[in-house]
Amino acid sequence: MFFEKMLQLHQKEDCNLSSKLLETLKDGGIKANFADLRVGERGIYFLFPNKEVSKVMLYQAQIQESLFHTRGEPLVHLCACEESKKNFNHRDFLAIIKMDLRFFLGIHSHKIQRKFFNDKPLKLCPQCSQILSHYQEDLKVFFYRAKEDYYLDFNA
Ligand SMILES: [Zn+2]
Repeated sequence: MFFEKMLQLHQKEDCNLSSKLLETLKDGGIKANFADLRVGERGIYFLFPNKEVSKVMLYQAQIQESLFHTRGEPLVHLCACEESKKNFNHRDFLAIIKMDLRFFLGIHSHKIQRKFFNDKPLKLCPQCSQILSHYQEDLKVFFYRAKEDYYLDFNA
């Protein structure tokens, strides 16, 4: 009886935490190094404590001024391209869900933030955006299929 109660409490806490995390993903995002992410061919997945899974976008939210001037604005990643495979646990990257493709961007030099944008429209990575052809070119469809795609990617 006691253990059942504990288990129920635990599951409830996991659910509360999971819905908080989802809110955060849709709001400011979660630093990639603090997120439980898996990068697959069909998406980048965020794993919740209650075992739910969501697709996320991944992009570099903090960028060096010099890099910003040479390479320009960061791109937004959706699946296993070279960039996302390399940076899915990098602290300057954010896991986030922003259907309007407008993002926070901080530009810094020598660890001092020089400038930031709150609603910067960013482009999808060309390699990653190809995947949308399997989802009617629609981000909503792409995100909606998180669970089945996670299964297909990892045979979970
Ligand atoms: Zn990409």
